[in-house]
Amino acid sequence: EPVIVWFRQDLRLSDNPALLAARDSDRPVLPVFILDLESPGAWAPGPASLWWLHHSLESLSRDLEETGARLWLGKGKADEIIPALAREVQASAVYWNRRYEPWAIARDSRLKSALKQDGVEVRSFNAGLLIEPWDISTNEGKPYRVYTPFWKSLKAKGDPRAPGPRVERLDFYGGAPESDALSDWNLLPAKPDWAGGLRETWTPGEAGAHTRLETFLDERIADYDSARNRPGIAGTSGLSAHLHHGEISPHQVWHAVKARAGGSLSKGEDSFLSEIGWREFCYNLLYHFPEFPEENYQDKFDAFPWKENEDALTAWKKGLTGYPIVDAGMRQLWETGWMHNRVRMIAGSFLVKDLMIDWRRGEDWFWHTLVDADLANNAAGWQWIAGSGADAAPFFRIFNPVSQGEKFDAQGRYVRRWVPEIAGLPDAFIHKPWEADRETLRKAGVTLGKTYPRPIVDHKQARERALEAWNEIKDAA
Ligand code: FAD
Repeated sequence: EPVIVWFRQDLRLSDNPALLAARDSDRPVLPVFILDLESPGAWAPGPASLWWLHHSLESLSRDLEETGARLWLGKGKADEIIPALAREVQASAVYWNRRYEPWAIARDSRLKSALKQDGVEVRSFNAGLLIEPWDISTNEGKPYRVYTPFWKSLKAKGDPRAPGPRVERLDFYGGAPESDALSDWNLLPAKPDWAGGLRETWTPGEAGAHTRLETFLDERIADYDSARNRPGIAGTSGLSAHLHHGEISPHQVWHAVKARAGGSLSKGEDSFLSEIGWREFCYNLLYHFPEFPEENYQDKFDAFPWKENEDALTAWKKGLTGYPIVDAGMRQLWETGWMHNRVRMIAGSFLVKDLMIDWRRGEDWFWHTLVDADLANNAAGWQWIAGSGADAAPFFRIFNPVSQGEKFDAQGRYVRRWVPEIAGLPDAFIHKPWEADRETLRKAGVTLGKTYPRPIVDHKQARERALEAWNEIKDAA
């Protein structure tokens, strides 16, 4: 009577509470993964995320083989496949680690009752958050809506639990029906193969996650506080997609940082952990306000006069807006499946405020193109940028793409890397090619409107237009 361990967003063997409990159950273990693209509806993982998933599952399968087990793969609605599989192998129990997306909570509770009706034991565990959203609230017992007190309160609870050990051996249950082959799922792009830049940039899987963390702790965390805002250098951890897929847990990250820090945290360490805190806060918002990914958190934004402008939206997606820092970000996203946080804010602000395009269009594009696409973090990021969220940047703070570029990419390294057609411009014009004189442009081999676009909107005018729209809605209840 095996225990089924259902892997989901916890694609790792170390610090995996569900797997550990199954190992210690004295029963044979059947590890499974279900590709369930139906239950999430509109929030089924996008192509970049599926690319990552493919490689992460490859890595997990290899790691499981070393323990003596084989990962069983099935495709379809998990709340149908799991009960059927449990019946077929006469499983005594199904264990999994929790997810927090509204669709996942709904599906998992359906599944739980179905299994219980069949007399199958169900246990779910915490594996992906430092604190369960229902275990933290304000003095009035309400969910936090503001980050700073949330983070203070989380830290005041002391260190989160220490990470669990790695599972080295499993008593594998070999009687399962035939599994799908990963390659049958066609998760990788074929024609055209757009994943070259992703392959060059990332190593999905648990080992890759730990290498990233180690490199970051060895080389970058000391300067993180200042370097994290400079997109032209590798100043951040690059852990987001690993964390999203659960190849590493926030507990492992937390304790690794603390172990290096010894007594008190340096500025870089403190600032890094507070970003891990933002992730917790985003999940807290998603759990308590489940309509957050689709609806303005602040109702008054429902009346905002968003514009339908397919041409502008396409220019934004392709990195052809004529604003170098925006274009660099959008191209980095397309090439590598990731964009630097500072530039996510600049490019996001440009879409929502300069182009006045609904933040949900940006959220959707990011969802398709990011390897770290995450319902909680993405929705919170977009609502923050739009000003419509909880604890969001006020709408009237509109990022200036030129001064942001000049401040955070002063030597233009980032722009030159991703927008090579203007790389020959001197630093003084790298963020505003339209201000360069003819001779300078000629020397740099730039013909505006031909080799690189002129700005699709004038920022100053666009800013005024956005503020007028804001004035119309800002006093609404
Ligand atoms: P680091 O700076 O090394 O941070 C460490 C970890 O902390 C990250 O891996 C991430 O898990 C977490 N983190 C950092 N910043 C944030 C943040 N602002 N909000 C929540 N968690 C954070 N992050 C995603 O993981 N998935 C998304 O889909 C996503 N969409 C975003 C959309 C917009 C419009 C914006 C402005 C931000 C978005 N972010 C998203 C947050 C942030 O940009 C990324 O987490 C970060 O850039 C990932 O790079 P890193 O791992 O090197 O980050």
